[in-house]
Amino acid sequence: MFNLVIFGPPGAGKGTQSEKIIEKYQLAHISTGDMFRMHISNDTELGQKVKQILADGLLVPDSVTIEMLEDEVSRNPDAKGFIFDGFPRTVPQAEALDAFLKGKGYKIDLVLQLDVNQEVITERIAERQKISGRADDDASKLIKRIDEYFSKTIHVLPYYQNQDKVVKINGIGKINDIFENISNAIDTSMA
Ligand code: AMP
Repeated sequence: MFNLVIFGPPGAGKGTQSEKIIEKYQLAHISTGDMFRMHISNDTELGQKVKQILADGLLVPDSVTIEMLEDEVSRNPDAKGFIFDGFPRTVPQAEALDAFLKGKGYKIDLVLQLDVNQEVITERIAERQKISGRADDDASKLIKRIDEYFSKTIHVLPYYQNQDKVVKINGIGKINDIFENISNAIDTSMA
């Protein structure tokens, strides 16, 4: 079992790099953002509960997010490992994930921090919105999401740094070059 967290602000390239990691390492991908969007488009009870929160660019409450995440992990008992994309986004989420994995005899093995500056984030998200049409990629909502990142999510980094699990990856450049650095970090951690 190899468990990886891919960490970075909105627009850092977490989704793009996750796809490449899954293909190469056959890990199960868990993106809480994708899961919430799926609930919203299927108009489930959970979807109705979180729809406005996502539209406003705010974080969904920890209790709701953690429960959804744990259900998803439990639904994949045969996975070789997981890549957590967009989770944890708060320190209580990180603590809950550690406790949950520990209960199953697992742990987080590696945290990849995708390092990008604000200028690049803004450019990439403006591009993405043309294709994805994601309402929360709208400039005014993006400001809220970046606020949430710097007020709440950034604290997840020292949490994992204290456990000596973080490898920082330059997230600016060609997708394949970034992926090569990611692969090297994963291979070193797996060795
Ligand atoms: P993402 O696709 O990861 O950018 O997530 C889109 C939106 O889903 C976020 O702006 C939040 O509203 C919600 N979301 C995703 N993951 C989490 C999480 N771990 N904790 C709280 N809210 C989340």
